[in-house]
Order: sequence, then structure tokens, then C-alpha cells
Amino acid sequence: MRLLLVEDDALLGDGVRAGLKLADYAVDWVRDGDSARRALLDHAYDACVLDLGLPRRDGLAVLKELRSRGSRIPVLILTARDTSDDKVAGLDAGADDYLTKPFDLPELHARMRALLRRTGGTASPLLCHETVTLDPASQRVTLNGQQVALSAREYALLYDLMSHKTHIRTRSQLEESLYAWGEEAESNTVEVYIHHLRKKLGADFIHTVRGMGYQLGGTG
Ligand code: CA
Repeated sequence: MRLLLVEDDALLGDGVRAGLKLADYAVDWVRDGDSARRALLDHAYDACVLDLGLPRRDGLAVLKELRSRGSRIPVLILTARDTSDDKVAGLDAGADDYLTKPFDLPELHARMRALLRRTGGTASPLLCHETVTLDPASQRVTLNGQQVALSAREYALLYDLMSHKTHIRTRSQLEESLYAWGEEAESNTVEVYIHHLRKKLGADFIHTVRGMGYQLGGTG
């Protein structure tokens, strides 16, 4: 899962990015409204954490433009001002949720999980497919009830596939979801992680869709 963090406060931005990375999200961080606009045009993010008070273009303008071009990316706004006007304006402009600063990282994580599962079309906190269950809250994966040890990248790849259950995910979509800026993928890494996941979860768990990408088995 790849997230865009838009926050001009260096200390807060650094803390939020570090916190989100601990939960195995790939995080790109920009510090002004223009950079946010460009990043959102150039990349397919799974969600955006958006500060409202920003240099060059404020968060509300970024959000309005995003929605006006039809983007449905989940957006969580961060607001320093504890006024309901701000929250109402944000929600009316198309935000999915908000957090008032200061906030705790566990709350940010919980809200992010809720946003991402809504995108996946499920209300359940657990992602299940056949005998595999993934719990985003604890980052635990089980096969037939037994915990499976996965590396951070294997987990991130599986999380992406299970969140887009009925979709074919292309190699470049999967790469985008694994790597933030400055963490360039080596060639074939997606194939390598798919290979590891098949060894751990069963050869048929992930299907290769020839010439297109990958999909969970039995959903095509
Ligand atoms: Ca700010």
C-alpha cells in the first residue's frame, strides 16, 4: 500500500512518515500543495494523508481539485484547528475522515486501516481468501489458522493483492505499492516476492494472468 503524506511541519511529517512506515506502508512525503497536486497526478496512491494549512496551495484546494477530476482515493485530513468549520469544509470537499492535531499514531493507523478496507469494499477488519487470513491491525497472516512468517515486502505485496481481490494487479501497480520515492525496485523483485508467497501460501494462491499481471487464485 502506497500512501502520500502532505504535511509542511518537518517534525510532525517526519514522525507520521516513520509511524506509517512501521506499519509497512510505502510513504511519499511532500510539504506543499503544489507538490501534492503533482504527486497525485503522477502516481496511483492507495490513500492520502492531507494537512489543510499548507504553503503554495492549501489542502482544501488540493482536495477539491482531486475530486473534481473524479479521483476516489481515500483522503484523511489533518487539521490543527479544532473548529468544526474546518472539519465540515474538509468533509464537504470530499475528505473521507479527519484527525485533529495532536493525535496518536495508533489512532492514525486505525483510521487508515478503516479507509483502506472501505476501498476494498469490505467492512470486515480481516481480509480473507480461501484459507488465508490477513489482519492489517496486527500485520499477522495465517494459513489454516497457523501464523505464517512473512517479510515486510511479502506482507505488503499480499496486503495489496488481498485488498484488490477481484482485480488483476499489474507488475508496475504492485511495484508502486511496494516502493516509495528513493527506494527504487530492483528488477524482478515482484516476481521474487510472488515466488516466496506461493511457497508459503500454496502454489495456486496467486495466479499469473499472462501478459497482464497477478490475481488471487479462484477470483478470475
Ligand atoms: Ca500545516
